Amino acid sequence: MRDERFDVVVIGGGHNGSTIAAYLAKSGLSTCVLEARPECGGGQENTEVRPGFRIDPHATYLYGGAAPGFDQLELWKYGMRMVYYPSMAGLVTLDGQAANMGSRWRPDLAEQSLARYSPEDQGGTGRIFDELGEQGSRELLRALFWTPPLPSQLEMDPVDMPWWKVFRERLPQFWFDQLLDMNYLDFLDEFVHWEPLKVLSAIGAWYCGAHPAWDGMMLQALGGTLLFNYASGAPRGGMHTYAHAIVRCALAHGARIITNAPVGEVIIRDGRAVGVRLADDAAFGEKTIWADKAVISAIDVQHTFLNVIGQRHLDPSFRQRISDISLKGGSLFVMSVICRELPRYHGRADAFPDEVYPSCVVAPADSLEWVRIQTRDSYSTRTGPVSLQPEHLTMMICTHDVYDSTRAVEGFHVLSPIYLEMPPPEYDVNGPDGVNRQKDEITKAALGLLEQLAPNMTGENIVDVFVNTPQDSEFRNTGLVGGNWYGIRHSEDQWFGNRPLPELGRYRTPIEGLYLCNQTSHPGGLCLMAVPYNLMHVLIEDGIADPGSWWYPSPFYVPDPSAKGGYAS
Ligand SMILES: Cc1cc2nc3c(=O)[nH]c(=O)nc-3n(C[C@H](O)[C@H](O)[C@H](O)COP(=O)(O)OP(=O)(O)OC[C@H]3O[C@@H](n4cnc5c(N)ncnc54)[C@H](O)[C@@H]3O)c2cc1C
Repeated sequence: MRDERFDVVVIGGGHNGSTIAAYLAKSGLSTCVLEARPECGGGQENTEVRPGFRIDPHATYLYGGAAPGFDQLELWKYGMRMVYYPSMAGLVTLDGQAANMGSRWRPDLAEQSLARYSPEDQGGTGRIFDELGEQGSRELLRALFWTPPLPSQLEMDPVDMPWWKVFRERLPQFWFDQLLDMNYLDFLDEFVHWEPLKVLSAIGAWYCGAHPAWDGMMLQALGGTLLFNYASGAPRGGMHTYAHAIVRCALAHGARIITNAPVGEVIIRDGRAVGVRLADDAAFGEKTIWADKAVISAIDVQHTFLNVIGQRHLDPSFRQRISDISLKGGSLFVMSVICRELPRYHGRADAFPDEVYPSCVVAPADSLEWVRIQTRDSYSTRTGPVSLQPEHLTMMICTHDVYDSTRAVEGFHVLSPIYLEMPPPEYDVNGPDGVNRQKDEITKAALGLLEQLAPNMTGENIVDVFVNTPQDSEFRNTGLVGGNWYGIRHSEDQWFGNRPLPELGRYRTPIEGLYLCNQTSHPGGLCLMAVPYNLMHVLIEDGIADPGSWWYPSPFYVPDPSAKGGYAS
């Protein structure tokens, strides 16, 4: 068989790999994606666990609504369909409260709940979202997530960072200097009064990106929740639909996608990446695939440098720094429950009427102290088995079939995913399989707590339960390091130009022609189409890609002073 040869070879066909392939193929480059599994999509999986019941073991919410990629890649042409629903978020406490926070399509639901429970919160963080409006929200989100890190030699006053610039211009009435060093919990104390609403906001931030207790990351945490609010909808049929749309787009522009093709090694000659060799068990006949312009690694940074790049090509201290990158962040225990009736919280049918049943409920949302306890459990001092008390088990209970009938057979519902925070396998003092060994016990406690909150969630109502632990996620999908949704932490030391290491901050690597495009690069995590968009700037700068008039760069992009192509010319 002749040598396979392309301009660019992409390792991994998850969200980031397929999206950069779509961008490059649309730019006219011959592009090949090599995916280890039988199907592309990575964490955007959607699995039919029983005929007619579809669950998301990993990615479930669409956060990428503000991405330039939707427009640049015209995903609607390739089958991307959204569902907009009036109620995205609700909260329930053990002591009998239940509030529906609506969505940006139905702010009146939040107003009604707040008028009942906490009138002084009517002007809280919701006011920030209102005053930003759609255009301001998009601008702020693009400054935070869809902006490539600055060149490393450039120093910038934090106040002039793209996101603070937009914040100061758009929201001068909310600006004060101390915001720069604040964490989101401090910010919530300033603007939110009702404890359960603080819990909802803090948990929301944690599950969407930067943890609420990280100093200096207040705006990144707020931005995570804004990502959720901005999209306020989800792809019909689940996140895998989104994967299909991107893959179709890449194929329509001529990309080649090869599945069952795990890459075993990147071929490096004279310090330059020139192709890849497939692992012996790859189903594809030709094992060597050449890349004339670039190899892009769309698998995580540790897998890239510790497994598929030969040790002899790397400086030992660099390698050590790669293996030292901390994966410590929350990881998710994911439960999916098939049931006959939706949870009726506190036995009240009117807690959430069916037509506005929230697609995600945070429960029990009694105390911010409980969020701190869970943070401590999953980040630091876990010294024994997972505690099964309610204060350790705040859940995010998603019910997508309330707006998407493709998820469940008529007459049934899927509560999926139900998320619980756990320590990542790598940091569990009971060993990497600590949570797995407690899987049944944790499942039983979580279902018991659900019944305590919603008395109809009994064995008669529940038809089936499926669980994947952080370790299961990692095993199932080798890109999801730490079983985590953003790979490595979104803390100040691992954000923007520091992510995952300062010398890798602009997606380039010490190996010429090798670039990173995965959830461990900036901004990392979530299916945002952000890493590929940001990487495109660098590929243009390096003279590899030359897209057409459909492309527009980030207004905050600063070219590298030594740039050869694109923006330099
Ligand atoms: C429990 C959980 C919940 C989440 N919830 C959300 C959510 O609601 N919304 C959201 O937007 N995001 C969510 N995420 C995050 C999202 O899934 C990831 O950010 C996203 O999948 C990262 O995409 P990626 O392409 O970088 O990596 P991946 O999706 O991991 O894709 C990497 C791909 O590379 C392949 N691969 C690995 N090694 C090789 C090799 N040697 N050769 C060839 N191919 C290889 C893998 O098979 C995989 O297909 C969640 C993640 C988890 C774990």
